[in-house]
Amino acid sequence: MTMMLMAAWRFNRQIAGFGFWATSYFFGTLFCVSLLVRTAVPEIWSVIATQSMLFLMAYLNLRGTRAYIGQPRLSPAYAAVALLLLIAVSGYFTMVHPDPGIRFTLSSLMAGVIFLLCARTIAKGKMQEYPARYLFAMACGGHGAFLLIRPWLFSLGNAGLFDAAQAIAVSQFVMVEAIAAIVLMAFGIVMLANEQVTLELRNIAERDPLTGVFNRRSFLTLLDKCISHSARMTSSLSIMLIDLDHFKRINDTWGHKSGDEALRHFVAVAAPCIRNGDIIGRIGGEEFAILLPNTSLTEAETVANRLRHEVAESPAEHEHGDITLTVSIGVTHYIKGEAPEVTLHRADNAMYMAKKDGRNQVKVALCQYNADKSDLSENSAEPDLQSEGHRVNSLKTSFSQSGS
Ligand code: GH3
Ligand code: MG
Ligand code: MG
Repeated sequence: MTMMLMAAWRFNRQIAGFGFWATSYFFGTLFCVSLLVRTAVPEIWSVIATQSMLFLMAYLNLRGTRAYIGQPRLSPAYAAVALLLLIAVSGYFTMVHPDPGIRFTLSSLMAGVIFLLCARTIAKGKMQEYPARYLFAMACGGHGAFLLIRPWLFSLGNAGLFDAAQAIAVSQFVMVEAIAAIVLMAFGIVMLANEQVTLELRNIAERDPLTGVFNRRSFLTLLDKCISHSARMTSSLSIMLIDLDHFKRINDTWGHKSGDEALRHFVAVAAPCIRNGDIIGRIGGEEFAILLPNTSLTEAETVANRLRHEVAESPAEHEHGDITLTVSIGVTHYIKGEAPEVTLHRADNAMYMAKKDGRNQVKVALCQYNADKSDLSENSAEPDLQSEGHRVNSLKTSFSQSGS
């Protein structure tokens, strides 16, 4: 298991905590070796070696788990103090007041508590969202709990409560439990590593590497999903298309790198302007789109204006001066039954109207229904488009009954 984890770590060094886990297993191997050579070395050295290796195995497992979940690192100073204390107490019960039972209880309780802490740490890290974490949490938790009751089991044996056959069975069970825990924890670690690699790959496939928002392909997939969801829930879905104004000039004046920085800056300004469930994607070079589920056209227009205002008021910092950005935004909403491209096209038209009318503004694409579109007018979740028709700066779009 140690060799397997070491080899997997060698090729996946970017996975937080993996190194600690692999090293933890390495100390586990040293622990087994120190047990094997127990009779060949003075007792005190054997005791110090086994206690230290077991402690380091458990401690590094906890550090690995915390690093994986993204919790702050445990100070090695505390671990060093705990280890020295453990060695001192074990030394006392070896040299001064020899008592293997107390030493055994001490190491079991210490390792048991640390393994339980590992289980608690992983359980706190959104375990429900990541099923791969269950195996590791259960292996650590089960092993930790068993380590806590193990001294009690042996004390029953020492008190003569087991006959010879039962005592052998208990010893065998203890051995089998340790092997099972080691194997299950290692597989748990491999599953966690796999989870991390999968998340990284998904991120690469779905996200725009420059700005971190969804790329065009995944944005369109999410648009499809939102459309089928809003159709089922009969809720309104609005969409915004945003184009940075005169972006070419920024590249020409300040350089392509500053242009990239300006794109990242735009996303940083836009993100706080939208709600948690809203979806932002980069659908072209300097073009972005935002999906606003459960949002009426009027609300979407308010959001768009707030966003436009924030962008204009928050210049991107640059070493030779601030770069002021402005955006032109087209807003529309999804109409039941139409193809997603039609909605996008309408928003695009509105955005080009905003460009044509001088940029740094928001245009709303409204739709006027035919009088006989009873299915739409009866749907209470559809916005009251006729009453919104009075709005200035509105782009009126007509739709036939099929919505094409
Ligand atoms: P308008 O206001 O009409 O939208 O003018 P514009 O200059 O923003 O639009 P145009 O389509 O003429 O130019 C877009 C520019 O965006 C051209 C392209 O080089 C630049 N661009 C596209 N993607 C990137 C990128 O990833 N990084 C940088 N720095 N520039 C990009
Ligand atoms: Mg453009
Ligand atoms: Mg542009």
